[in-house]
Amino acid sequence: WAKAEGRGRWAVYDPERSAADIARSALAAGLPAALDRGEFVLHYQPIVALLDGRMQAVEALVRWRHPELGLVGPDRFIGLAEETGLIVRLGEWVLGQACRDARAWHREFPEQRLVVSVNLAARQADDPAIVDTVADVLRRTGLPAELLQLELTESAVMGTAGEPLRSLHRLADLGVRLAIDDFGTGYSNLAYLRRLPIHCLKLAGPFVEGIRTDGDDTADHRDERIVDALVRLAHALELWVTAEAVETGAQAERLRSLRCDTGQGRWFGPPVPAEQITARLRGGAA
Ligand code: C2E
Ligand code: MG
Ligand code: MG
Ligand code: MG
Repeated sequence: WAKAEGRGRWAVYDPERSAADIARSALAAGLPAALDRGEFVLHYQPIVALLDGRMQAVEALVRWRHPELGLVGPDRFIGLAEETGLIVRLGEWVLGQACRDARAWHREFPEQRLVVSVNLAARQADDPAIVDTVADVLRRTGLPAELLQLELTESAVMGTAGEPLRSLHRLADLGVRLAIDDFGTGYSNLAYLRRLPIHCLKLAGPFVEGIRTDGDDTADHRDERIVDALVRLAHALELWVTAEAVETGAQAERLRSLRCDTGQGRWFGPPVPAEQITARLRGGAA
């Protein structure tokens, strides 16, 4: 065993590890053709106002309709797409499809002003071409810029300087909204945050999970105080706050009393195909 633990030897001798690696590279190798064959699909998850239950936005979440594996979630292939660089083309497809769908919703339900929120990988956000890509997509689809929100992770924006920071400002100048995704899980530099042209913080699921709800005295009150503090911080910076991974009505109620603006999670509805969002808009309009 001591010998097997030598540097690099696991790659040769650990059969499980190499099986996983093989599966990983097979998945990665299939990505470009999958994109060409149109095997990716977007699901949309409602983002709901905690005060009145109105659906303010939907987040676009990509899935791979794999011919053998069925519906594959993004956690299994986004990282691979980032490593291989395919994320740029895949990301452009996501952006285009999300804006087309959002344009269709806006046409049918103009009074709703439904925002579509699209995740950007760090690699996309770092590329100065992102500004032209977004401007082109808006022009082609006719979606008003203020109905598009781009989600960036803390690590993608913290410490950006020079060109990437200019890109964020140019994106904001286009009129699109910028949100920090999974806020609180990365490292945040508050002095820096204050200078970013962002509109929204999305509080990461683990904080929401830990908030106290009626009859539950085991939950860690510190999480609740953190949510309280983060909401106050966001509002002091004139940012909206969305709580992620809201799973119960009690959590939604507590978040509302903590003045959180919007919520997203199974309690408000899971990610669903575009048609189900359309149906929900029809139902809500009635
Ligand atoms: P995210 O942007 O933080 O998206 C939220 C994730 O939480 C989604 O996972 C969603 O399905 C899941 N979720 C929804 N409701 C609940 C709930 O009540 N509780 C909990 N615990 N989770 C909930 P999903 O769809 O598997 O996506 C995972 C991640 O993959 C996303 O996290 C995002 O970072 C990435 N991703 C998804 N689509 C794209 C994309 O088009 N481009 C890029 N770059 N990344 C994407
Ligand atoms: Mg998943
Ligand atoms: Mg997101
Ligand atoms: Mg998130």
